[in-house]
Amino acid sequence: MDTSDKTITCRAAIAWAANSTLSIEEVQVEPPKAGEVRIKLASTGICGTDDHAIKGLLSAIFPFIPGHEGAGIVESIGKGVTSVKPGDKVLTLIIPQCRECSSCLHPKGNFCEKQDVLPSSGLMLDGTSRFTCKGKKIYHSFRTSTFTEYTVVPEIAVAKIDDAAPMDKVSLISCEVPTGYGAAVHSAKVTHGSTCVVFGLGGIGSAIVMGCKASGASRIIGVDINEEKFPRARALGVTDCLNPQKFKKPVQQVVMEMTGVGADFAFEAIGLSDTMLAAWDSCHRSYGVCLIVGVAPLNSKLSLDAPMIVSGRTMKGVCLGASAVFCCSEIPDDKRCKGILGDFILSCITSLIVPE
Ligand code: NAD
Ligand code: ZN
Repeated sequence: MDTSDKTITCRAAIAWAANSTLSIEEVQVEPPKAGEVRIKLASTGICGTDDHAIKGLLSAIFPFIPGHEGAGIVESIGKGVTSVKPGDKVLTLIIPQCRECSSCLHPKGNFCEKQDVLPSSGLMLDGTSRFTCKGKKIYHSFRTSTFTEYTVVPEIAVAKIDDAAPMDKVSLISCEVPTGYGAAVHSAKVTHGSTCVVFGLGGIGSAIVMGCKASGASRIIGVDINEEKFPRARALGVTDCLNPQKFKKPVQQVVMEMTGVGADFAFEAIGLSDTMLAAWDSCHRSYGVCLIVGVAPLNSKLSLDAPMIVSGRTMKGVCLGASAVFCCSEIPDDKRCKGILGDFILSCITSLIVPE
């Protein structure tokens, strides 16, 4: 049956209020408007950012359909859409690529001005929603919303992928894998023989570890309060595992003592200002590089020891691994990336969080 131009009724998970249990509901999904794409989803990942949004830690507007890490097949397209057609396999992108804004036009920019994460309107670019449930407007999550059988996203938030892509797994390439791997390889540019410390060994932290290892790091210290993450982390390349709750002193002091001088590269992949400070203080004072990958709660602040900034350390944020290309056209044709995805899934799929 041709469903284009028709409203589709399907099932979706809705977060009705902050911290509430998601409920599976029947929702209506309107056809795509100009510049939009309607997708039949095949699979979705669950990223820490979804968990933050469901808990009300970001500026998500309730009720909304969570999820941003989706893989699916284009069902129909709105007027003017040229990059994809019905039947194409695609990924949804939490940070779109309008290819027109100051960020997209700059070689180092990767935080398109048309993003809807920080802050979040919960609406499409024209200020309206495509979802209703029981006659009530349902908001979008980061203009992606993938915890649903069908979704509508802007064309600029869709990446066409290879026809051979494994649809049950490739959704992880939409965020977790390129974010973590790219943070190490593209943004930090981890060097051969270096010492790295990774705070948080969830999906993102695991992909960071893989990027550090692929870059030739000789020592990778993993920090997590959940020791169940340690065997998988070791399998991916972590050489030393630390549970901060097992020490009387701050974990950054432990890292300093283990390394003598501090790490060359420190990554924060949890999303808390305290662990961001711990990562910063684990770095070598003069040439250490601290990458903030975790998304901290709305309105939280980071307070640094101001005089110590002159010592030369670098702190930088990184969005989606600093390489939009990595999560689009190069994948999954590139053999190397196929390898990465395979290792990641084998080792980490069970580490992804599942909302209660
Ligand atoms: P996750 O829940 O899979 O992993 C988080 C890990 O941190 C868990 O293993 C948990 O046990 C550990 N942890 C929690 N509190 C801790 C503490 N106090 N000390 C040590 N370990 C602690 O989440 P994820 O999907 O890996 O996402 C991690 C972060 O990355 C989130 O903040 C998410 O929003 C962010 N993120 C950023 C980007 C980006 O582009 N920068 C993209 C995706 C996700
Ligand atoms: Zn994500």
